[in-house]
Amino acid sequence: MTELPLVEQRPAISDVAQEELAAWLVARGEPVYRASQVLGGVHRPAAACFADLTDLPATLRTALDGGFRYSTIVTSHVLEADGGLTAKAVHQLHDGQRIESVLMRTPSRRRHAARTTICISSQAGCAVGCPFCATGQAGFGRQLTAGEIVDQVLHWHRTPWLALGPDWRPDARDGHYNIVFMGMGEPLNNVEPVFAAVRLLNDPDRLGVGARHITVSTSGVVPGVERMIEELPQVNLAISLHAAQDQLRDELVPINRKWPIAEVVAAGRRFADATRRRVSLEYVMIAELNDTPELAARLAGLASGWLSHVNLIPLNPTPGSRWTGSAPTRIRAFRDALRGAGVPVTVRDTRGREIEAACGQLHAQLAGRRLPEPATKATTEPVAVGVA
Ligand code: SF4
Repeated sequence: MTELPLVEQRPAISDVAQEELAAWLVARGEPVYRASQVLGGVHRPAAACFADLTDLPATLRTALDGGFRYSTIVTSHVLEADGGLTAKAVHQLHDGQRIESVLMRTPSRRRHAARTTICISSQAGCAVGCPFCATGQAGFGRQLTAGEIVDQVLHWHRTPWLALGPDWRPDARDGHYNIVFMGMGEPLNNVEPVFAAVRLLNDPDRLGVGARHITVSTSGVVPGVERMIEELPQVNLAISLHAAQDQLRDELVPINRKWPIAEVVAAGRRFADATRRRVSLEYVMIAELNDTPELAARLAGLASGWLSHVNLIPLNPTPGSRWTGSAPTRIRAFRDALRGAGVPVTVRDTRGREIEAACGQLHAQLAGRRLPEPATKATTEPVAVGVA
């Protein structure tokens, strides 16, 4: 097995508490207000290193560079697919943990209909253990910090993938830029850092991503949904349902044994009622398992009568998986059954199959290996993907 890179000892500035940084600055004869100036600067996309924080004195920038890493991400390996519309990164953190983020662009002839979505991780690994998910199969590593979550978004700002021309310039306020917590981990099992990261992303003096352009996705952690109602009512909620019957969901989403379908759907309804925001019900479609007419009817019953929207996602199987994605005819029949019952439903694209873009797949493929050199340039052609 190839040796992994050495771990980084300096703390990352994006994860240092403001009071801690203020003390560090005051000890060097700097005024206290510099702490918010520094932290505001490192969470802005335009500045990619301490030298870019030109509103700070040059001597302070040099001192900061000696004392701190600029990002929690030590190195990233990026692969591109779908003719440049999808890019996936495996990020290595200071302690060798690896996480994934994905950038997806949806083009449109109408400039204002073009969208960019960044999918980020909330934990290194995941303890929920869904058997169809590569992350779930790899187990739990550790919780991510708020800085490690925000730095995944900043990573994409600091690469060419978010700078391919005027149509692709991110403008959160214009609705062209969305962030979804659908990468590795269960966000509501890491509530404090995830909520702190949402506030940092939303901060108009930092990235300024509108709360309505941020989605937190949960496998069904009911107390976390209750906290979202209280603390983040402007943020979107998605619930990964994947089965409309408890016995099957116990197998597909094991957290169902703690919070079964009725409790999860009830929490989703409370969120929708309290916030007047539509809740997405995610349903990965697995051939001959959860795509039957009977389950379509059950799902229609669960999704009817409240502000919900069902997203059907054909399974992107993990290597060696005993399951495959549903056939297009089964997906259409399932969708039509929901539509016939008056349930809003969309069949989602699966992106980046050739770069293992489903959650945890690329991480699993690279486990125990040194990350290949990061890609430095976005192209419009798919890159070679033979990284194993
Ligand atoms: S699907 Fe989501 S909740 Fe389930 S194991 Fe994977 S990362 Fe965890």
